[in-house]
Amino acid sequence: MPIPGMKEQTMKFETRAIHDGQPPDSASGAITTPIYQTSTYVQDGVGNHKGYEYSRTDNPTRTALQECIASLEGAKHGLSFSSGMSAVSTVMNTLKSGDHVIASDDLYGGTYRLFEKVYRDYGLSFDYVNSSDLKLIENAIRPTTRLVWIETPTNPLLKITDISGVASLCRKQGIVSCVDNTFATPYFQRPIELGIDIVLHSVTKYLGGHADTVGGAIVTSDEKLFERLKFCQNAVGGVPGPFDCWLVLRGIKTLALRMERHQQNAFTVARWLESHARVRRVIYPGLKSHPQHDLARKQMTGFGGIVSFELDGSEQDAIRFVETVRLFSLAESLGGVESLIEHPGRMTHASIPAEERRSRGLSDSLIRISVGIEHVEDLIADLDQAFANC
Ligand SMILES: *Cc1c(COP(=O)(O)O)cnc(C)c1O
Repeated sequence: MPIPGMKEQTMKFETRAIHDGQPPDSASGAITTPIYQTSTYVQDGVGNHKGYEYSRTDNPTRTALQECIASLEGAKHGLSFSSGMSAVSTVMNTLKSGDHVIASDDLYGGTYRLFEKVYRDYGLSFDYVNSSDLKLIENAIRPTTRLVWIETPTNPLLKITDISGVASLCRKQGIVSCVDNTFATPYFQRPIELGIDIVLHSVTKYLGGHADTVGGAIVTSDEKLFERLKFCQNAVGGVPGPFDCWLVLRGIKTLALRMERHQQNAFTVARWLESHARVRRVIYPGLKSHPQHDLARKQMTGFGGIVSFELDGSEQDAIRFVETVRLFSLAESLGGVESLIEHPGRMTHASIPAEERRSRGLSDSLIRISVGIEHVEDLIADLDQAFANC
């Protein structure tokens, strides 16, 4: 049965990842979408063109990427951006001074910074709640609330929010709902199918998948929202170049394969860590010990490649650990084929005051890993030597 607001799909995810938006090039037959490295397009007469006038407005390589991502998310329309933050900013451009936004309290740091240090000065107001508890979202709604913004799973505590619950709450109140789906990817979670209005990505992470480009995307099936977002994309201009679009298109072709292996490796590493004497707690939505494992199972078809764990030790011990691994690279970001490790308290989440971090459950000995697609035995051997050497 077709789901309202969802585009009807005939082919499976893996097939659409390779073909949707990317028919062979009509001019040459090139099987791979060309990089249309052009700023403008020649018109046959005034206003008589082939659908392209200027590359800030539209570019064929970008169109291919936008259609492909929309298809994978089950949405009618897609838009892509020069960064995830540029995509977030464009969603905010649809709001007006005086509007109120409710967001998850465990938000990506850059999103929190943009809301607080940029958009607050434009007259928008924000409330941050633990969105895992729908009652807290409901209680925060004001007559001026226009947008509910959630991340699930969150970073780095991998908390889960009930997507259908948020969607129906927002629908009832006429509030736009948005899910940042960067961590789960459309392979494991499709919020549009659960009634969400806007889905957002940092394609820098899993969609690109190779740690070689920065980009963002938005999808929606709502015509009015799409028109406004598309208008803002062109008016504000945070668009990606054609080569970056091409890199992401190439990354997406193997998204399904990569996500399967990310998840398989993450599961194995999470279980190994769970049985380790020097680990206090492992956080992975696929583990039965995860407090919202049942909800994750209900709304996701897999649990992704990010694992967080607390060492049984001090902040100093955790820092020594992330500096002792050899195969895992010490770096921010996530979602690439190579495994990364980081200390959220001192790196990605350092801008949150220490007290606030602890009150949110982000302990000083917490370590986050983005489990890559190397052989899992090599990954475990590396973690094992790090335990032995520090
Ligand atoms: C990285 C990230 C962003 C920001 O994207 P950029 O591509 O770095 O601008 C937004 N949300 C989440 C969840 C992210 O991980």
